[in-house]
Amino acid sequence: MSLLEIIEGAGIVGCGGAGFPTHVKLGCQVEYLIINGAECEPLLRTDRYLMIHKAPQIIQAVEETAKQIGAEKIFIALKCTYKEEIASLTKAIQEKNSSVHLYEMKNFYPAGDEQIMVCDVTGRTVPPAGIPLDVGAVVSNIATMYAVFEAMQGKNFTHKYLTVTGEVAHPTVVYAPLGAGFEDCIQAAGGALLEDYMVIAGGPLMGKLFGKEEARAQVVSKTTSGIILLPKQAALVSGRETPLRSILNRAKSACIQCSNCTEMCPRYLTGHPLRPHKIMRKLAYNADVTELLEDFDIRQAQICSECGVCETFACPMGLHPRQVNVYVKQALAQAKIKYQKSQEEPVFARDEREYRRIPSKRIAARLGVVKYYDYQIDELKEIQPSHVEIPLRQHIGAPSEAVVKAGEKVVCGQLIGKKPQKALGANIHASIDGTVVSVGERVVIERRETK
Ligand code: SF4
Ligand code: SF4
Repeated sequence: MSLLEIIEGAGIVGCGGAGFPTHVKLGCQVEYLIINGAECEPLLRTDRYLMIHKAPQIIQAVEETAKQIGAEKIFIALKCTYKEEIASLTKAIQEKNSSVHLYEMKNFYPAGDEQIMVCDVTGRTVPPAGIPLDVGAVVSNIATMYAVFEAMQGKNFTHKYLTVTGEVAHPTVVYAPLGAGFEDCIQAAGGALLEDYMVIAGGPLMGKLFGKEEARAQVVSKTTSGIILLPKQAALVSGRETPLRSILNRAKSACIQCSNCTEMCPRYLTGHPLRPHKIMRKLAYNADVTELLEDFDIRQAQICSECGVCETFACPMGLHPRQVNVYVKQALAQAKIKYQKSQEEPVFARDEREYRRIPSKRIAARLGVVKYYDYQIDELKEIQPSHVEIPLRQHIGAPSEAVVKAGEKVVCGQLIGKKPQKALGANIHASIDGTVVSVGERVVIERRETK
């Protein structure tokens, strides 16, 4: 069986982002394979844990993946401040006499944005609305490579490593079966320190925000990278909860057109024509976005990565260009307007890019989460919940089709959701031994007690 068939069978999707099926991403021949070890968002520690504790396995998977895609230039890109991770990977590389190189990036946000990383490692700018493949690169991440290693040993993708931090008693990395409840993960970290709190699934800048009760219904999926508990009054929480109407009103009345949001925008700095200050100005002059959808600057909202630098760090007026871009993107999507790729010459990073990198800790401070920033997390807590609820959609593409029924006994690793034929998608497997209780959007399995 080829490596691609093994990866497809195991149901591996990108662990670092939206969950693009890995067997599709790796179905190419390229010059560069770049493994993202920069753990983009402050506070997350999962990939760092894996780089320290699973370095030989990761290097083996990276080598096999590079062979698969014919990559001659093979890098793990991580931050220069990750001393223990660098030592561990260097040892594994030397022991295996491997051709994998480490690329040490500065400690800035968003170092782990794959387009920013490709620009740093290759010196090439991914074109607007393009993908790394457009410039001869494939980017995968550390946790995905570890899943590839496990698949090479015959183990399907059934468990997830994730960081649980913030207002919990013992911030930790949790090893959880897919479909485990967020609550089980929070308990594994010693429980919440607050009576009431908000939960971010993912990182503090780009993760999804839930109220305490909403979070109880959330389960670990293939793309869950972290669970962060924050006080309800945290600056980051109130900024996210500002209603759209007041965001737009304030954008119209308070934007001083200083253009800081554009000057600091990481995508603008890689050479893209995204200028959030112009989007803000145009909305200030015209309240009805539907009248602006043909405008060149407005359309550039589609290439905003939603990294949040503009509103978290750049804007001196406390405005929300990112959320305005999200609003414009939705309007463009509703009007079925796709991004028009330019047929012009390749784009190049702007010279000032080097001087406009924002230290990760400063962005954590602006978000009001710096008190959780320096946690050293070395511990791993494995959880074994009594039941799991495994979503049939945990990836980009079509949901998987259930191949089990209520009442059926399953074992961990058994196929329970099959990728539809000829569709983009990924297989899904049982993450515990047990009995299927129900099958809907989620497959619910009760654990079978072993005597
Ligand atoms: S969120 Fe702001 S800074 Fe980030 S890419 Fe979009 S416009 Fe640029
Ligand atoms: S940084 Fe703020 S005030 Fe300045 S142009 Fe951008 S949105 Fe307007």
